Amino acid sequence: MYEINFEIPAFLLSLLCFVYCVTAKHRQYIPPKTIKNRLLSQHYVFLLMLVTNMLSSLSSVVGVYLTSATFEGVGVWQYLFHAFYFIFHTTLSVTFTLYIMNVTGTGVNWKRRSYVLFSLPYIASELLVLTNSFTKWAFYMDENLVYHRGTLMPLLYAIGVFYLALGTFFFFKNKKAISRVDSIAVGAFIIIATIGIIVQAVISAFLVELFSEALACLVLMIVLEEKSGHMDITTGLLNRVAFADNNRRMMISGQEYCIVLVKLTELDKFIKKFGGREADAFLIGVAEFLVKESGVVDVYCYRREAFAVTFKGAATSEAQAFVDKVLDRFNKEWAAGSMQIKAEAVVSLIRVPEDIGSFSELENLVSSNYKKKKGGSYFVPIEEIRELTKQGFYETALKKAIAENKLMLKYQPIWSVEEQKTVSCEALLRVDCDELRDISPEVYIPIAEKTGLIKDIGLFVFEEVCRFLKNERIKNSGIKYVELNLSVFQFMYDDLFDRFENIRKNYDIDAEMINLEITETALASDEQIVIKTLGRFYDLGYSLSLDDFGTGYSNLIRMVGSRYKNIKIDKSILWNITRNGSDPKVLKNLVGFIKSLGFDIIQEGVETKEQLELVKSCGCDFAQGYYFSVPIPENEFVGYMKSE
Ligand code: C2E
Ligand code: MG
Ligand code: MG
Repeated sequence: MYEINFEIPAFLLSLLCFVYCVTAKHRQYIPPKTIKNRLLSQHYVFLLMLVTNMLSSLSSVVGVYLTSATFEGVGVWQYLFHAFYFIFHTTLSVTFTLYIMNVTGTGVNWKRRSYVLFSLPYIASELLVLTNSFTKWAFYMDENLVYHRGTLMPLLYAIGVFYLALGTFFFFKNKKAISRVDSIAVGAFIIIATIGIIVQAVISAFLVELFSEALACLVLMIVLEEKSGHMDITTGLLNRVAFADNNRRMMISGQEYCIVLVKLTELDKFIKKFGGREADAFLIGVAEFLVKESGVVDVYCYRREAFAVTFKGAATSEAQAFVDKVLDRFNKEWAAGSMQIKAEAVVSLIRVPEDIGSFSELENLVSSNYKKKKGGSYFVPIEEIRELTKQGFYETALKKAIAENKLMLKYQPIWSVEEQKTVSCEALLRVDCDELRDISPEVYIPIAEKTGLIKDIGLFVFEEVCRFLKNERIKNSGIKYVELNLSVFQFMYDDLFDRFENIRKNYDIDAEMINLEITETALASDEQIVIKTLGRFYDLGYSLSLDDFGTGYSNLIRMVGSRYKNIKIDKSILWNITRNGSDPKVLKNLVGFIKSLGFDIIQEGVETKEQLELVKSCGCDFAQGYYFSVPIPENEFVGYMKSE
């Protein structure tokens, strides 16, 4: 006599899960459109798994009930329910494997042949059961209606175990494709189901297998199928978590697909002007449009103002046509509550894997807050977004660093050829945060200039240099002045001069101690303002240097003329001679020319003894470079001066 207690709960539990999944509408994915997708759709496979579990346990319960029933023709029914049990039971292990394949994205690139191979054992097992009434290979009933195992029954079990093992193998192989929580849930599923199988195999009267599988399904349902955490509340689309999960899985499993990004560019302004309720109505309108026009399942609202639509397959034409439709739509008005509004969007298209190497790159790209370049709605190529995101990345990091006081200066000695010792130093900006610590200011200063952050940075640098000069140990070290870098953009702020002067007076530093290095990065500047402001500094006793001389811009030498104390020759000129074999005369003549105008010369980028000898022989007055020291923090600089 069998113990059937566990088959009934197995049935009820599966039924409960099934009803919950089907009735809780918001927890479902929108049904996939194509048959291929449907076969592979995780949610459908999950439902199938529950249904097969219900049918298996039901067949088992009825089968066991029938063993003790005595009505006319009971033998046929007994036989039938045994057969049902085996049919559904093998199906169950296949649905399990299919489920794992869906979750991990296994098999998306399979050819038809692989699918055929995959299904063969299953087909064989079902054929075995279907033809059993003739062959009796799987099982048979004797005249007394006693059940016996057939010779191939072990094969039937082996096929079931094979699919379970295959599913488990796929899971371990592609675990990376799913999030941690999901993989814990799948792992729990495998463990719970396996325990059930083993227990039932060892104690055959203990029918716990189906129950343990139903229990395991419950775990999956709570974690993987409960998708309310995957939904954007406003629009009902898939949210950022789902975007991350699905894209991670698709990328790691090697799928080819396209992502269309639609970013609304003025939502903030809109919310400020009209309020959140109207903005929501507008967002819902956009979401509905995207779902309807794309005709695909995967439409995401991954940030309040940003949408993404993924198109499976490598063909870009479908995605491209969609881009055109979206841009076209944004030419017209949108309904937002009681209003009609014009909205702007930037649309872009990313092809995976051609355009993007890794999931983290995609995540960076979509999470960065890139800004629009011009008015209206338009298409932005991926390269441009990359550029914009890079800027956005640095801008955000810089802003944060400024707010958290992570700016600092390092100092690099400037060595006098005549005096054979360090007579001054250059203050160089560093940012002590993970994003920028190892990055040269050359990279982010231009971004600071564009975004206006240079104003605060400039004030920090100036004040920090004054503080440095106030340090008694620096004062006594033989440093005659400190050079600091000013970009021409900083002159665009009218209060630059007054702010600097206030700081200098506060710290009570002689103007002669400060040397302003000017780099001409672009001709975007208003010449008159630069000349005037530099003149005011010069008149007060500040000294001026022209930085990076020889890199192409020579406007400033004309503009400021004889007010410069130093001209700093760019390191590339020196390196061209010592590394690329350029004629040393280039430097010699350049030095001769500059000296004839009456300026002192600092050669930057002196890294070797050979370079120093060359610099000396050309007649430069000062040398700066790694040969002496890399830029170092204030305390080390004090030590450096002492040891020199
Ligand atoms: P720069 O003013 O021409 O500064 C010299 C740069 O050359 C520094 O790079 C310095 O570390 C590097 N250098 C000096 N000697 C050698 C050498 O022997 N070998 C090599 N390979 N490099 C050497 P850094 O610190 O990365 O600064 C890059 C540029 O960023 C600076 O060029 C300057 O234009 C700008 N910058 C730095 N700090 C500031 C600042 O506080 N304000 C502004 N506006 N710009 C700054
Ligand atoms: Mg400089
Ligand atoms: Mg320079």
